[in-house]
Amino acid sequence: MTTVEPETVLAARELYRFYRAGEEETLALRGVSLRVRQGETVAVVGPSGSGKSTLLACLAGLDEPSGGEVRVGGVRISHRPETERARLRARHIGVLLQSRNLLPQLSVRDNVRLPQRAVGKRPVASAGELLAQVGLGERTHALPRQLSGGELARAGLAVALANAPEVLLADEPTGELDGETEHLVLVMLRERAARGCAVLIVTHSVEVVRNADRVIELADGGAAEATRPASQQGVPDVTR
Ligand code: ADP
Repeated sequence: MTTVEPETVLAARELYRFYRAGEEETLALRGVSLRVRQGETVAVVGPSGSGKSTLLACLAGLDEPSGGEVRVGGVRISHRPETERARLRARHIGVLLQSRNLLPQLSVRDNVRLPQRAVGKRPVASAGELLAQVGLGERTHALPRQLSGGELARAGLAVALANAPEVLLADEPTGELDGETEHLVLVMLRERAARGCAVLIVTHSVEVVRNADRVIELADGGAAEATRPASQQGVPDVTR
């Protein structure tokens, strides 16, 4: 019997990112290559300043790498005009940041509808359905400032899932959350992976690392596959 390898959905090749501020030059990414396959959850770890946020921004097409390329579903997203990157992102990628996932002047429902309208296809799940899934079915008309921190995180997740993306990129999604919200976010990310989504999570959380299929460690802008201690390996379990 032949086994078919799951398809690579997200691929980064030799990513470099320089920042120049006056005389100062920082090399935030030094030739980072990675792949995330369908249904796979990859955790990215590393100390502060190691390039994690820069990497995520380049993968999401929110930032342009100085060198190398990013492909999503085989389509190059890097080195394109910003409007094209935004269009590809809306169609293929869900992005979950620690904050600023929502536009403050729009209701949470309209925040979820915004990326759905940008794509212009009938969404797999309506904004109301997505908000119900994250436990905000009663708060669809609320403005972001009327939500608690945990509710904001859940609304951000609904926005990230608005177009049933093939790739989900999350930057410390559980950083400042209460235990219950952290658990909900992890369960939902896991569910998306089980349905074939490629999930990449920048994290400091032992819980997230323990549940990831692979761990990539960034140090000083370079990446290496990390081996986990035996105690953190084993069957993923977020459904305690
Ligand atoms: P991490 O997310 O792992 O904390 P970052 O990706 O934020 O790391 O930063 C990596 C390096 O790039 C750091 O040295 C940081 O100071 C630098 N850096 C990040 N963003 C900028 C920027 N906009 N301008 C200049 N330097 C930056």
